[in-house]
Amino acid sequence: MSDHYMSSVTDQLYLSEAQATMLAPHAGCDASRNLALLMRMSCTAVREAETPELHASLDGIISPSVLRNLLSGLHHRDINTMRHSRRVALLAVGLAEYLGWEGHALKLLEVAGLLHEIGKIGVPDHILFKPGRLSPDELELIALHYNMGLDVLQACRVDRSLLELLSQAQARYGGGDPLKQMGRETQLGARILAVAAAYESMSAVRADRPARTHESILEVLRKEGGTQFDANVVAALERYIARHGLPYSSDGSDFDAVQICSPAGPQQMLEANSLCHVFNHLYVLESLYDGFAIFDADLRVLVWNRSLQNLTGHPSTQVLGSRWSSGLLKYSDLNGEPLNETDCPMHRVVQGGGPVVCDVQLNRADGRTLSVELQALPIHDDTGQLLGVVEIYRDLTRSGHRRPQELRELKLAATRDALTAVANRGELETQLTVHLNEFQKDPESPFSLIFADADFFKSINDTYGHTVGDQVLIDIAQTLQRETYCGELVARYGGEEFVILCPDTTLEQAERRAERLRLAIRSCPMGGNSRLRVTASFGATEVETGDSMESILRRADKALYNAKNTGRDKTCVLTNEQILASENEAEAAKELEGPMISNVWFSAVVAADMVIYKLGGYVEDYGAKLLEVTADHVLLQQGRSTLFGFWGNTSESQPVEIRVQFSNPLGAQARKGRNTAKVSIGLKIRPLGWCRSREAFNQRVRRITREIKHYFAAD
Ligand code: GH3
Ligand code: MG
Ligand code: MG
Repeated sequence: MSDHYMSSVTDQLYLSEAQATMLAPHAGCDASRNLALLMRMSCTAVREAETPELHASLDGIISPSVLRNLLSGLHHRDINTMRHSRRVALLAVGLAEYLGWEGHALKLLEVAGLLHEIGKIGVPDHILFKPGRLSPDELELIALHYNMGLDVLQACRVDRSLLELLSQAQARYGGGDPLKQMGRETQLGARILAVAAAYESMSAVRADRPARTHESILEVLRKEGGTQFDANVVAALERYIARHGLPYSSDGSDFDAVQICSPAGPQQMLEANSLCHVFNHLYVLESLYDGFAIFDADLRVLVWNRSLQNLTGHPSTQVLGSRWSSGLLKYSDLNGEPLNETDCPMHRVVQGGGPVVCDVQLNRADGRTLSVELQALPIHDDTGQLLGVVEIYRDLTRSGHRRPQELRELKLAATRDALTAVANRGELETQLTVHLNEFQKDPESPFSLIFADADFFKSINDTYGHTVGDQVLIDIAQTLQRETYCGELVARYGGEEFVILCPDTTLEQAERRAERLRLAIRSCPMGGNSRLRVTASFGATEVETGDSMESILRRADKALYNAKNTGRDKTCVLTNEQILASENEAEAAKELEGPMISNVWFSAVVAADMVIYKLGGYVEDYGAKLLEVTADHVLLQQGRSTLFGFWGNTSESQPVEIRVQFSNPLGAQARKGRNTAKVSIGLKIRPLGWCRSREAFNQRVRRITREIKHYFAAD
């Protein structure tokens, strides 16, 4: 029974937890540290291979703790790929059993199914979680994950049969004639795996298409039978499912079973996180260089990547496990003079030097020579002991030292935040720009931003220390990642601030999403302490016409600020309209609080010599007093304060000082000889005496302004 068979392997992972050889936690991100973790996994594998019962538990295919670590890393990085892998393993094993397979072959197939997309751990977020269809460039980059998976598995000293099976199952992605690559000589297991993976993929909902029905998947598989897929395997799958049904539930309830691989506890979380860095580092090596090899402390070949096989013509099957020697690739200098062992970069690195780079010629398997730039980099542990060496090759005969796209790829590789493994700020800005551009083209495609900031985070550092603080940040990031949908981008904006970019999301939806995230954060134990709870405040906003990256981020930040200022552990939303309304309110409040001075300007068309005359009329009619007359202003006083200096209730006599200001000094107008001109007249009015009511003052100002305007026949 396939059920019985499967549970034996998943139990294996679960039970061996107790005997696990843990990897030392490493959240650092420099090259040596990343590869040091890989070397330690390699050592773990060797140790377990030497322990008979551990070695036997998975038939020597892979070390149980390495398998658990890898699956835990995949779960941590992308639970959907983890679920897909588990289903593919179940389907492939079910089908193989149906075809009469048993024992070791089934176990091998199951492990291959679980690990067939393990390299996805290293694919940058913007590709791995991209909503919609991938571009051809992106497809090329994502296909690198097969190589990264093989690199890591090589280093973890898995059985050759597993490497063979996986590389054959993946061959159809390598371009060229798939049938030739996946032809009769291909192991049946690889063909079963390819069909199972395609079936499962098509049955799942993807961002760019709905799930296909069983019938329509079979139709596609039958159509591709004989080219992409083995027609006999497709026919067998059809019969198997008709007879036994699918070996997993299709309603999503099998998520629980996948949880067995989730990193349990902070230690495992850190390991899973460190593993992401290892893959990320390999992604850089795979995408930037023409080949690389990794050697252990005994200088035995641990990894001989696929590109290096192509570059040198030496297949990994021949080279893996053999000891480095200058004779392996028969190095010579660029003049063709053979290099002594002691002149080789490898030798110089082992002798205690730092990284070495030089141009050499190597001998290919077909006898031709090739000029390459060779870098040798030492891998050290924390105490400085040499754990291994990486050799990186660049083909000097290729035109241009660095392909234009390499720079881009380098940038892509640097999209992840080193501590939390979610997207970094640069990646957020890239994605935000893409979404803003789309929104400008099509305003019907809204998106929203959610800004989150941990509450009183400083006190967590102060109380529990920085290491727990770091772990809390990782936990927050993971909670956000877990609670968001595929296609949404979680990014660390800085410190204890995160931003979530939600495509196709209105403000109301974003508010609900933020609330869900907030509740998830406050209910999760954090930092490896079951009693440590953290809350966070959220601000959400939706893109609006005319938004730039800065304006939308600023608005989300303002919303967050409101949440912080009104109690924390809550979500606030903000639109431009609300900002405008609150600015007006603030302006009005300021006016209410500020000193009572009114300043009004109006225009009048009037002859220069008439200005004073007209004002004189006003002074006379309203019993005002002329205090001062200059070329550009006149100062008046009007009304009288009551006993004790109060302002009084009679609106006509409340005492004010009026300063009448002219935009063009009167003398200048007169000198220019312009008889009639447009003059701007400013009235600055302030109460004299003790005015207690702003409203009373405002009424008085309105009245005076109206009357003076009347004298100048102005509107
Ligand atoms: P508020 O509720 O107002 O947001 O208070 P707060 O304490 O969270 O905010 P504040 O900005 O005063 O402090 C943020 C703290 O976050 C200070 C800084 O030491 C800490 N922090 C920033 N980045 C990291 C990090 O990478 N690791 C750790 N452990 N702490 C960090
Ligand atoms: Mg902050
Ligand atoms: Mg904070």
